Amino acid sequence: MKRAAWLLAGAAPALWGAYTWGSHLLTAGSIWRGPRDRRAVALTFDDGPDPEWTPRVLDILDREAVRAAFFLIGRRARRVPAVARHIVEAGHDLGNHTWSHPSLWCCGPHETEREISLGHAAISEAAGGAPAFFRPPWGKTNLAMFAALRRSATPCVFWTVQPESRRPVAPDEQARRGAARARSGAIYDLHDADGVPGAGARLVAYLPELIRRLRAQGYALVPLRDLL
Ligand SMILES: [Zn+2]
Repeated sequence: MKRAAWLLAGAAPALWGAYTWGSHLLTAGSIWRGPRDRRAVALTFDDGPDPEWTPRVLDILDREAVRAAFFLIGRRARRVPAVARHIVEAGHDLGNHTWSHPSLWCCGPHETEREISLGHAAISEAAGGAPAFFRPPWGKTNLAMFAALRRSATPCVFWTVQPESRRPVAPDEQARRGAARARSGAIYDLHDADGVPGAGARLVAYLPELIRRLRAQGYALVPLRDLL
């Protein structure tokens, strides 16, 4: 191999590291929680819409008079536009969770741009309203993602509390653990569709008790746009 090729082979991992790992330095400028001076939290749901579980989550939120935010996957929204539309009609906030839910660590600049713009377009068309926020799958970022979000002035929203464990936990215990981690301004990251298998079913089982416990602790459950 020529010297230049060796140099390039050595530089490639460093460049990839800066593009992916390095980009996480920029997450300091993203949204991780709301103001701490108000006893309020926001619920956010990722990975839907799911034809079975999202309507049941919407029923629970309606019954409890809670408005939340749904970070949708574009191609799932295209499959079940009626569910996506129901989210908007019920007054919830919409977020873009990419077109196909890849790890952005594995996406070059062009692919990243495509995942964000296709996701935005598919969600807007299906739901009849444009997503106002973005959340990268698994919280993994790259430099191209920040550039694309800056161009479209879309806030990147992470989370304060991710209460779901990888292994199934009894619903009451799951709700107890989730509420125990509440703080003023916290953004809860929940899942209304399968990423982790069974996520939707587990959520529906513990969500009413989580809401009850948060309220018993004096927290108002507010829409994400209000929290921020
Ligand atoms: Zn996700």
